[in-house]
Amino acid sequence: MSGVGKGIATASIGQILEAEGYKVNPIKVDPYLNVDAGTMNPTEHGEVFVLRSGLETDQDMGNYERFMNLDLSAGDYITSGMVYKHVIEKERNLGYGGKCVEAIPHITGEITRRILNAAEANGSEVSLVEIGGTVGDYQNIMFIEAARVLRIKNPDDVIFILVSYLPMPSTIGEMKTRPTQNAVRQLNSYGVQPDFIIARSTVPLDQKRKEKIAISCNVRAENVISAPDIKSVYDVPLNFAKDKIGETLISTLKLQPKKKKEGLTKWRQFVNKISNADKEVKIAVIGKYFDSGDFVFSDAYVSVIEAIKFSAYNKGARPKLDWLNAKDFENAILKAAVLKKYHGILVPGGFGESGIEGKLLAIEYARKNKIPYLGLCYGMQLMVVEYARNVLGLKEANTSEINPMSPDKVIDIMPDQKKKMEDKDYGGSMRLGMYEAVLKEATIARKAYGVNKIEERHRHRYEVNPDYIERLEEAGLVFSGTSPDGTLMEIAELSKKVHPFFLGTQFHPEFQARPLAPHPLFDAFIAAALNSQK
Ligand code: GLN
Repeated sequence: MSGVGKGIATASIGQILEAEGYKVNPIKVDPYLNVDAGTMNPTEHGEVFVLRSGLETDQDMGNYERFMNLDLSAGDYITSGMVYKHVIEKERNLGYGGKCVEAIPHITGEITRRILNAAEANGSEVSLVEIGGTVGDYQNIMFIEAARVLRIKNPDDVIFILVSYLPMPSTIGEMKTRPTQNAVRQLNSYGVQPDFIIARSTVPLDQKRKEKIAISCNVRAENVISAPDIKSVYDVPLNFAKDKIGETLISTLKLQPKKKKEGLTKWRQFVNKISNADKEVKIAVIGKYFDSGDFVFSDAYVSVIEAIKFSAYNKGARPKLDWLNAKDFENAILKAAVLKKYHGILVPGGFGESGIEGKLLAIEYARKNKIPYLGLCYGMQLMVVEYARNVLGLKEANTSEINPMSPDKVIDIMPDQKKKMEDKDYGGSMRLGMYEAVLKEATIARKAYGVNKIEERHRHRYEVNPDYIERLEEAGLVFSGTSPDGTLMEIAELSKKVHPFFLGTQFHPEFQARPLAPHPLFDAFIAAALNSQK
């Protein structure tokens, strides 16, 4: 079922096989009809993760990239929407030569074609295909059917892994295997027999239950993997390794053992840093995609959170992240009382009007009180708006996203983007994916990256308005990163002489932060935050 940890399980298996020396390619299959994840509300679906190519995908793709330390390509993400769109367009172009086009075999055929293409394009030895949704759903049935056919055609090369949940009702106090048995029966009715079962639960699986699952679900006991809840998702690969999942997968798939093995040593060192972190660094994240009923929903910012963690652990600190709703800062007294206790303030990406004035007040507070500030995309644009209003004195300065009538649209839409909006061409049409930026000498950004040319991932429609650049620079704002032709502002910062760390990026650095390779700008932000405690 969703939320049970299929993404982390897939990423962890991938990492273990990688550590054994294989070239692994994870592929995510999402059953929804959206062509990509770009049009979905993050409050409901979580973060939209942007690939190098600019494809807007599900947050699981981020987990794969982080766990496996690789860059995925557009072909590694498949949605029902993409598949149906392709088949229908092909039909309209007479691509099926007069045949009756049907879900089976044409939709299933398109699914397998994409899976095989992705594997081939990446030259991988093992592909891991995660099928989203729940066994028994109507939505993912085509994908399960495609997988069945793939297995029939390649009996020795395809195996099935079921990630199942074993509830432990508090009134009974013991783990229940029955839902897993029923899930397997349901899968059997589709013609699929799992080879492995990953048993998710609050506690580890005991031998008795392992055997019970094995007998009742028709799998070998050593292929039942215990996957208890743990403190950090980064423990999962190490936990899986205890159950020897790598060795068992290798022998089941009859893979040739590799001579050159990376092993999980580096990963272990990273996980040890988490438990050894003894300082605390308090960061306020000011956003709006938190409220989901009664609980704080931080899934919308998962890459940002992880990027902060990697840099903090790397510096021996444990991050304490607080989610502050931008709307709460519209009251000045409250604002100061709340914000002064943080070592760093971060405004992540976002869209639309809600909470905007609150974010601006928090940015102003960070600037005036010299609290390290990192602004990501919207957080950079609002940093420019705040500077224009309070330093340049352009009281009505704004982004045209919020006020198209503002006399000073310091952040404005580009002409090509404007046309797309007029044509209602919203899907996959922002400035997306990897773009180069050049860095100015003797700036925080240049020093942090250590190079003068970088590549980062984007997802936005608005840009710093070129008409205001000169005035902003004269007033002290430094555009330390620009597009190579100098027209687009990529990084804005204040000189270290006036503020310890006040920096915003038009791009999303969080998409390239990895546990084994923390992001240089997050490193610099956390270093400044830790420094502010002294
Ligand atoms: N809403 C802004 C834009 O479209 C910022 C987008 C973002 O933060 N990802 O440019």
